[in-house]
Amino acid sequence: MSLLVVGSVAYDSVETPFGKRSNVLGGSALFFSLAAGFFCPVNLVAVVGKDFCKKDIDFLKRKKINLNGLEIAEGKTFRWKGRYSADFNNRETIFTHLNVFENFNPILPEQYKKSGYVFLANIDPDLQLKVLKQISKPRLTACDSMNLWIENKRASLMKVLKVIEIFIVNDSEAKQLTGRSNLIKAGNKMLTMGPKMVVIKKGEHGALVFTKQFKFCSAAYPLENVCDPTGSGDAFAGGFMGYLAMKKSLTKSNFKKAVIYGSILASFNVESFSIERLKKLKQAEINKRFREFKELISF
Ligand code: AMP
Repeated sequence: MSLLVVGSVAYDSVETPFGKRSNVLGGSALFFSLAAGFFCPVNLVAVVGKDFCKKDIDFLKRKKINLNGLEIAEGKTFRWKGRYSADFNNRETIFTHLNVFENFNPILPEQYKKSGYVFLANIDPDLQLKVLKQISKPRLTACDSMNLWIENKRASLMKVLKVIEIFIVNDSEAKQLTGRSNLIKAGNKMLTMGPKMVVIKKGEHGALVFTKQFKFCSAAYPLENVCDPTGSGDAFAGGFMGYLAMKKSLTKSNFKKAVIYGSILASFNVESFSIERLKKLKQAEINKRFREFKELISF
């Protein structure tokens, strides 16, 4: 079944302890689509400017990402620049130039209104609500958010959480949203806000899953070389949702495996700058890492 993602497509600039890149492909929906594309067809809804390069459009088409919902608007593509600390634990945003993203008004193409699997990547929660209203009877909906919306759009974010099924959030955002410094308390608190499942991403420390029926705790795939963590949360969400959309049956076992595939896609993503690693990634490498991961965490 196909998977819909709505979010940002950007030209990113990043500085990490291992180097820098300027104006390279990025954006939450882009990292998500590339990761999810290993499991199922992906329908992308986003906006870019007239400056968005044809070679990048051709690349996305080659990756079989459906671009019927990619609007090319008058103006410049969204640009974001970030800089990481030496241990990658802190990221400073140097600039956010919204450009055409400022007036992003996601109108779904008719054929996407019956999407079974939906991921609302990091965009204004009012827009996330607007997208949800356009979709009839989705099988599974999930969303992400960020500190900006937790601070400035809390009421709207709470409305999204009331109707979304899975909330995928990182550890610092979980603490910020709930006012709880303990992640177990934060996870349980978020379950009371509406979602049936909460996934807390802890970066190099793995992920925690909370539902009323079960909890799951996964390590991250241990990596020696981390180059650029940008987009790893979106790559995680892409692997997670892509696997579920491919498997169709929403069992506890599939949810757990989805967390592992999410972690695997995120682990590949951080090995190079921007989308460089995902661009070259082969299905066989994902399968190999899945086997290694299983061996590492089984006892
Ligand atoms: P992550 O590392 O998961 O936080 O995702 C980083 C990606 O999010 C980058 O590729 C940015 O282009 C994109 N991004 C940064 N700020 C925003 C924003 N305010 N809205 C949407 N996307 C953003």
